[in-house]
This record gives sequence, C-alpha cells and structure tokens, in this order.
Amino acid sequence: MTQQVRVRFAPSPTGRLHIGGARTAIFNWAFARAMGGTFILRIEDTDPERSTEENVQVILNAMKWLGLDWDEGPEVGGEAGPYFQMQRMDTYTEALEKLKQRGAVYPCFCTKEELDAKREAAGESYAGYDRTCRDLDPAEAQRRIDAGEPHVWRLKVPTDHGPIEFDDAVYGHVSFPADVMDDMILVRTDGSPTYNFAVVCDDTNMGITHVIRGDDHLSNTPRQILIYEGLGAPTPTFAHLSMILGPDGKKLSKRHGATSVEEYRDRGFLPDAMVNFLALLGWSLDGETTIMSRDVICSEFSLDRITKKDAIFDETKLAWMNGQYIQKMGAAEWVRLSEPWLARAHAEGYPYVYTAIVPSPDPNAPAEEEAVEPLNEEQWAAFTDERNARPDFYEGLYPLVAERETSLAEGESKLAYMFWGPCVLLDEKSVNKVLRKEGARAEEALAACREVLADEANPWEAALLEEKCRALAEPLDMKLRNLLQPLRVAVCGNMVSPPLFESIELLKREDVLARIDGTIAEVF
Ligand code: GLU
Repeated sequence: MTQQVRVRFAPSPTGRLHIGGARTAIFNWAFARAMGGTFILRIEDTDPERSTEENVQVILNAMKWLGLDWDEGPEVGGEAGPYFQMQRMDTYTEALEKLKQRGAVYPCFCTKEELDAKREAAGESYAGYDRTCRDLDPAEAQRRIDAGEPHVWRLKVPTDHGPIEFDDAVYGHVSFPADVMDDMILVRTDGSPTYNFAVVCDDTNMGITHVIRGDDHLSNTPRQILIYEGLGAPTPTFAHLSMILGPDGKKLSKRHGATSVEEYRDRGFLPDAMVNFLALLGWSLDGETTIMSRDVICSEFSLDRITKKDAIFDETKLAWMNGQYIQKMGAAEWVRLSEPWLARAHAEGYPYVYTAIVPSPDPNAPAEEEAVEPLNEEQWAAFTDERNARPDFYEGLYPLVAERETSLAEGESKLAYMFWGPCVLLDEKSVNKVLRKEGARAEEALAACREVLADEANPWEAALLEEKCRALAEPLDMKLRNLLQPLRVAVCGNMVSPPLFESIELLKREDVLARIDGTIAEVF
C-alpha cells in the first residue's frame, strides 16, 4: 500500500500572506487533493518579536478567501495538533532528549562574546563554529549544566558523513558536502528551538510525507536532513519551488504592484482567478491550458509537472484571466461580489439635478495611492435597501461591463454614471470632441434623439429605442456617429462608456431626459 500523502503549509505570521506564500499554499493544497491526502496548516510563530495574533487572522482569512480549505490546523484541529509551534514546546524538549540519548547533540557554553571574537578574528575565512565544546568531558559538561551555566544545544555533525544527498521532486538529485556543515544550534539558551529544529520535529511528528516550499529553503534542507538522521527519523520527499520574479526579471516585490493576497482581493480580483493564475506559476497542466477550474487543478496536480525555471508574475496576464472569470460568472454572482464597489458608486451618486463639465482625467498622471474612507453604516444600509428593491437594475449592470472588466473594482468608475440619477458629469475632452465639434450639429442630434426618448408611445427597450434613433440619420442627413455620440456623452458623460442603449434602458426615462436637457443647457 502506498503511503497516505500528508503535506503542510507552514507560514510564519510575521506579515500578510504574500503571492509567493499563496503559491506555496496552493501547490500543497492541490497536491493533497490530487493524491487524496491531507493538507495541514501549521503556524510557525516562534519569532515572538515579529509574530502577531492579528497576522495569524490575516493569513487564515486570506486562505479562506482563496478557498484553500485545510484538513488539519487552526480552527479545525486534528490528531497531530496543536498547530501553533508555540504550543508544541514539549515536543521539542522530547526530541532534544532523544537526540541526547542518541549522542547526536552536545551542550555548548561558548558565550556570544567569545563567538563574535572568533568570527571577527577569522574574518573572511570563518568556517563556522570551531567545535570547542564538542569534546568536553560529558561529566564536566553535566556539572556545568547542573551549576546553571547558560548553554545551547548543538547538533554533532558526524565527521565521517559523506555528501548529504536527496532527490528533490523539482530540482532532481541534489548533493551538499557534509564537511562544511556547521554544528548548528538546535536549542537556544532560553530553551527555544531554532527554525530548522522545530520544522524537523513538527514534520516528523505530523507525519509529513512531502515538503513543498520555496527554494529559499533549499539551503536549509541538508541541515534538516542531518537533524532527521540525528533523530533516526525518515526524511520526507522535498519539492522546492522556484522563485517568482517580476516581468523585469527581478525578485517579485512591492515595486511590481500589490504583493499580498489581501491587496489583490481589495483591488477586485476573484479568488478563482487568483488560484488559477498562481497554480500556473511554476506548474502546468499540459503546457497549453490557461483557464482551469479548481476541480481540474485539484484532480490533475502533480509534482512532476513543476518546473524549476523561475516563474514570472505578469499582472497583465492575471488581469486578463480575471476578466475571463468575470465574463463567466453570471449576473447574480457578479452583483454579490461587486458589492464593495457598487456600494461606493451608489454612495457617490447624485440624487439632485446637476450638470457640470469636469476636467478629463490625465492618462499620464501617476497612479495615486489614495486612502479610501470606508463607507459608513448609513451608506451601506441605503445601498443594501436599493439593491434589494431593484434586483433587475443591479443584474442589468453586469452585461454592460462583463466583457470589459478586468477587475471588479473597475465597476465603481466604469458604472458611476449609472448612479447619477438626473445628473451628468460631462468629461471635458468628450464635450470638446463630440458636442462642440465644428459642423457636427450635435445640438440638433441631441434634440432629435430626445424626441424619440420622450415619446411615451415608444416602449423603454434598448433595441427599439436604438432602432428609432438610428432611423433619424437619414432624414437628418447625418452620420450615425455624429447622431449617437452626442447622446452617449449627454447620458453617460463621456465617449467611451459601456453600451449606450442598454444603459438607457436601465435608467429612468425622466432621468435620461433630465440629463439631455442639462447637457444642452450647459454646453450650448
Ligand atoms: N515558516 C517558514 C516560512 O515561512 C516555512 C518553513 C518550511 O516550509 O519549511 O518560510
């Protein structure tokens, strides 16, 4: 019988869940699902200065938002718990006892000052701890411990150890010379375990079969293998994931845009698109397929299709992919997930009659990182009431943007005009190019279209209204463009809005007429 796969994602709660961490989490989760195994979430909170309870929550929320359900870990428990390292101290003490019994560790009494002095004296040629305490007489060492002398515990790296070798599922055969390995500290003077020691203890006690993690840990692996050997424990299979680089080939950082999962959520990216996109940062299904559901990822994921080439994080591709998911999601889901942005557009609407020409946005202006005030309770309540009262209006917004949005957040600005009631904010450039265009007879065009829209005999339906307005081109001897662009600017505020007549159908007749009247009064 093959061994049941058990994998873990082991974040340190020292910050948010970043793109790299999320990718590691997804690979572990998908591998567990594909193998019918267990996905464990373990919080590595042994750095008291940088780990916070708040960061734990942020990470758990990001995992939940991505839909990466864990089988064992915080909140769900499990037989191998607890799942916070700080609650596992007794297991590290136990492991140290075992190492002592097996003669694999020794106490070291060298002070920090002594070690610093040695390091300084050796300069460039410093080759690690000189093993001064390794050969202390055991009885003498015990006497010093009993006398309360501060000490750490170091691993006694076997002197006759050949190269440390392992077969990495991504990197292939890897070999490190053992003779350059330091007698590393496993337990500090205060009794706390070091990172390498805690990880090996946990992975052993939790029965982890595969360690899938970033290749920044590749150099820790030979050290960890020495600890496994010291404990007489089997080593898991390792799979180290290549770095994620920005499109400029440099390590992914804030410079390349958002780097935490939360930021992408707040910018209107969908969890399904994020999971799909991140799954492809270093893994591929068949080298071709780009859009794939969680089900496909979870059933098809395999370690042998992970590449060791660095993965490039291309936000344009992510935006494209997000757009694909938006197109597929359907109106009801879109309204539900777009709430934060629709509520904002709703709160920023104008309930009173108001028309103004406003400066066009500068396309070259640097993107501002403005802090947005959260909506207050009243604004939310007003939005919720309206959304519940007018489901057709909200669902009707979806086809206006479904094929154009690359993030849900775009809805706020792209659809702002749908919340202006009888008002319209006229984009200055559009006014000059369309309404004040020399010889284009924009005022005449607007007046003629207004007549069609004002006629109560015309049902308020996009296709019919469009047909009637288009029919004006011939008698007026006007190009369609010159006939309809003014209407677009007068109703939507600019010349690049979503579909015009579909927008008109969703607005109230009296509001559309008020917008046209306001525009005529303001511009001509
Ligand atoms: N806590 C470590 C980190 O956040 C992960 C350790 C591991 O996966 O072995 O980098």
